[in-house]
Amino acid sequence: MTLPAINKSLAIGIQTSRTHGHILVLHSTATPNAPAYNVANFEHRTWRSAETFVHFAVDDKVAYQIGTPGYRAWGAGNVNSYAPVQIELCEFSNKTKALKAYKLWVELAVTMAKQYGVPLTLDDNNRTYGIKTHNWCSRTYGGSDHSDPYGYLASIGITKAQLAKDLKAGHATGTGSASSTVAKARATSASAGKLAVDGDWGASTTKRLQQVYKTPVDGVISGQYPWKNYKGAVTGFQYDTTNPAGSQVIAAIQRSLGLKADGLLGPATIKAMQRAAGTPVDGVISPNSRLVIYIQQQLNAGKRPF
Ligand SMILES: [Zn+2]
Repeated sequence: MTLPAINKSLAIGIQTSRTHGHILVLHSTATPNAPAYNVANFEHRTWRSAETFVHFAVDDKVAYQIGTPGYRAWGAGNVNSYAPVQIELCEFSNKTKALKAYKLWVELAVTMAKQYGVPLTLDDNNRTYGIKTHNWCSRTYGGSDHSDPYGYLASIGITKAQLAKDLKAGHATGTGSASSTVAKARATSASAGKLAVDGDWGASTTKRLQQVYKTPVDGVISGQYPWKNYKGAVTGFQYDTTNPAGSQVIAAIQRSLGLKADGLLGPATIKAMQRAAGTPVDGVISPNSRLVIYIQQQLNAGKRPF
């Protein structure tokens, strides 16, 4: 295990109360090509006014400590008091750097998890124990609406399953050779077969949408109201009658249509999709839907439908 060197020159010391709970939060920065020094320097200067800081930021060479582990950081909303450790992964467009940083991030996370009694699980249902992404924290605890780091990880060829496997193994198993991992990811997407153009929105259509919109790929449209206007016409949707969290891929589609990105596929969103697709505008996804046929054709052509 090659643990990154931890530079404490920008640490802010103990400024908050002790945490209670055993959650380790994983983030990615969303500021491409900014090294850990920049992230730490920024949070060191602005944490009081911006009310944002984490415990560590990791790049391809080094980890900077900002907050003090075991004391509350302000990185992920209402989960903060349960999270003794929160770690940012610096994002890089250079794939070799990106995978080196990923490897160090995983190793620091596992080391810290062991020190703070955090089991090496990823985003499971336990609300107080385990390694959780900011995405999970936003959905489970609220107080923050970020969905990192899955979008970025997908862009460097790391799936949720790979991350779970690497955390469990204690190190980045798939990234021994950075170029081979990226090559493998490319080959997988190139060899993926065409969708059946049947107008039924199932898991394979959802998976392809998730790939082209670069959201986590699991084939599930999660967190939806059980709307009558598409229930029964589609599979792979997860419903929640009380407080549905919305789906990231639906939110991505809403953003590209200029709609409010709440991730809920309601009649207004369906109508906007139908308008964009040039199919009849009724706000309903029927069996053998013309809208879904349009989506499947665009996906087969390798395009984002919206
Ligand atoms: Zn985050």
